[in-house]
Formats: sequence, structure tokens, C-alpha cells
Amino acid sequence: MPELPEVETVRRGLEQKLNNFIIKKVEVCRDSTVAFPINKEEFIKGLLNSLIYKWDRRGKYLIAQLKEVQNENAQFLLEKSKNNGFLVVHLRMTGYFKFINKSTPPCKHTRIRFFDNNNNELRYIDVRSFGQIWWIRQGLSHNKIIKGLGSLGPEPFSKDFNANYLKKVISKRTKSIKAILLDQTIVAGIGNIYADESLYSAGISPFREARTIKKNELIKLKESIVTVLKKSIGSGGTTFSDFRDLEGENGNFGLQTNVYRRTGKECRKCGNLIERQKITGRSTHWCPICQK
Ligand SMILES: [Zn+2]
Repeated sequence: MPELPEVETVRRGLEQKLNNFIIKKVEVCRDSTVAFPINKEEFIKGLLNSLIYKWDRRGKYLIAQLKEVQNENAQFLLEKSKNNGFLVVHLRMTGYFKFINKSTPPCKHTRIRFFDNNNNELRYIDVRSFGQIWWIRQGLSHNKIIKGLGSLGPEPFSKDFNANYLKKVISKRTKSIKAILLDQTIVAGIGNIYADESLYSAGISPFREARTIKKNELIKLKESIVTVLKKSIGSGGTTFSDFRDLEGENGNFGLQTNVYRRTGKECRKCGNLIERQKITGRSTHWCPICQK
């Protein structure tokens, strides 16, 4: 599943590729990909003549700000154009975007196609089809309509995410620290790979009861999370079989993991073998010597 660094890589790609992309046609190839409005015609009609002018990210959600453009040939002033709500995307397991400037037939996993007037297409493809797209019209709150978005905890890079905050939210939690890191209401954007990698880097066992983790360890954990995520954003997402950027490239360049999917291999610090076990249904990788 794409996590924060992969989604951030996609966000940057979209911002770079979609210059003055005004939606002139929408083709919904699979109805269930449209999460809101329920009526797919309303979704299509609402998006027409929208300029996608800014892409934000919150946790694993992509949020595009839209402006209404009725006549693209006339000079229009962005500041004076009316807002047309937000296009929100969650890629879930296997969703990805492809930007196409030479028309090609869609593959069978194509879910939604957005076209402009210049033969450009933004194509949303999703093999397993868990991904969702919302159009939140102007005046509605995306945080209210999309529960997962409204309940997100702080971004790992924000100043709200620090050791004091962590101490406060986990002080009574008996869950494992691994499960805590995967909880999007505690911190946004971390999934299985970066939870395992951050805990390794901080020297904390994924099985530790959250409430037993001391302040100095939380300081280290916070730093580890930020460092691991930043490094991964810099390399365009991690070693991840399904992830594709906008060019259709796999983000599999360079970044090596220390524990994730290294079961039975030697720990890079101590040489002991990396182990794997499930925690709340998720494969967890760790070094029993380096992580206490
Ligand atoms: Zn080790």
C-alpha cells in the first residue's frame, strides 16, 4: 500500500505534470471508484470546466483544489475565479495515476479518465480497485464527508507531532507500539514499511506495550520516523512492488530497507537474523538484538 512517501511522490508528480489542466470530459469506467457524490452523473457534471490548480496531501490522501473556468480562451484571473471544491483521492492498495499526452487505449484496470482540451489525459488505474475518488463540491467539508480524512492525527513533519504529543496519546495504551504507529488517528501516513523501519532505526521492539515507552525513546522514535520518511521521499518512494509514479515507473530505485522484507537476512548493525511475525494481522519485521 502506498504510504506517505509514495503519496507525496505522486503529489509532486501531479503538480509538475498538470499545468493548467482544465477538466473537459470525465469517463467513469468503474462506478464504485467514485465514492462521492453517490450519483456518478453529478460527479462528472460537477467536475467539468474545473481547473486543477493545486495538489495537497494529508496523510495518504491527495487533495486537489479546483477553480471554475467557463471560458479558457478568455484571460482569467485565478484569484477571481470561483472555487469549485476539491477532488480527493485515496490510492489504497494498488491505485495510481498516469499522465498521457498521446492517446492510448485504456487497460482493463482503468477506473476513471479525466481529459482536457489539449489531448491530455489523467488516467486513474487500480488493479484491486480499493481506491476511492471524491468530488467535494464548494461549501461542503471534506473532513466531514470523508471520515478517515477528518479523523487523521498530525502529519509526521508538523510541529504538533513530537515526543510530548506521543507521550500524551499513548500513556495509557496497552496496544503494541507497532499497532499505534499504524493508527492513522494518532499519526497520519505511516503504514507497514515505515512503521517497521522507524522502529528499527529507533531501537524499539515493535511488540512493546505503547505505555511502557519512555520519553527519551519517544524523542528518538519521532526523529527516526521523520528521517526515514524524508529519505524515502527523496528517493521517490521505497522498494515497493505495486507502486507507480506518473510515468508508470516503479519507485524501486535505491532506497534499501533495513528490516522490511528482509526476513532471515543479516541485520546491518549486529549480523543477527531479521525475524518476522504478525502483529494485528500485519507482517512485522525486526531485529531481536537491536530492538528492545
Ligand atoms: Zn541487529
